[in-house]
Amino acid sequence: MNKQNELDKIAEEIRRCSICKIGKSGKAVPGEGNPDADVVFVGEAPGKTEAATGRPFVGRSGKLLRSLIAEVGLREEDVFITSPVKYLPDRGTPTPKDIVHGREHLIKQLSIIDPKFVVLLGRVAAEGVLQRKVAVVKERGRVIGEKDGIKYFLTLHPAAALRFPMKFKDLLKKDFQTVKNYV
Ligand code: URA
Repeated sequence: MNKQNELDKIAEEIRRCSICKIGKSGKAVPGEGNPDADVVFVGEAPGKTEAATGRPFVGRSGKLLRSLIAEVGLREEDVFITSPVKYLPDRGTPTPKDIVHGREHLIKQLSIIDPKFVVLLGRVAAEGVLQRKVAVVKERGRVIGEKDGIKYFLTLHPAAALRFPMKFKDLLKKDFQTVKNYV
């Protein structure tokens, strides 16, 4: 089976997954992009726009993320964008259980894509992928893990930069300039 077919199979598993849907609503948002991507961006959970369309990062945070991706010279069609949690959480923020469960689908996606560089956008991404707590503001802007030839880079979630632009927007931009050195 080729990678796209394997990813389609995982997307179908996510659509049929009853555990994923607990405490959440809207369409499944499995992720999208190049099945052979060297660079994968991992967010948190779909927002309202994503849950309405089934596509990741298409709301306000998505606009910012996609502009930063272009700024570092990457093309959207060359990367893959996804999240640990695949449905819109009723309370906005995913629960620890949501993250632990969503990880099962995410890890399968990452093992199919087999990227070289994973950009973790905030706490939920880091917990979902690396299974450890991170102090995002303190640890951001660098590679915080490396396993099986994959580097894991931590930065802020774009939503944080939108919520607190004075505090975080420049930091997020700076981190993406660092990403540029790796990709
Ligand atoms: N925030 C995320 O973390 N993921 C999305 O898909 C949209 C917003």
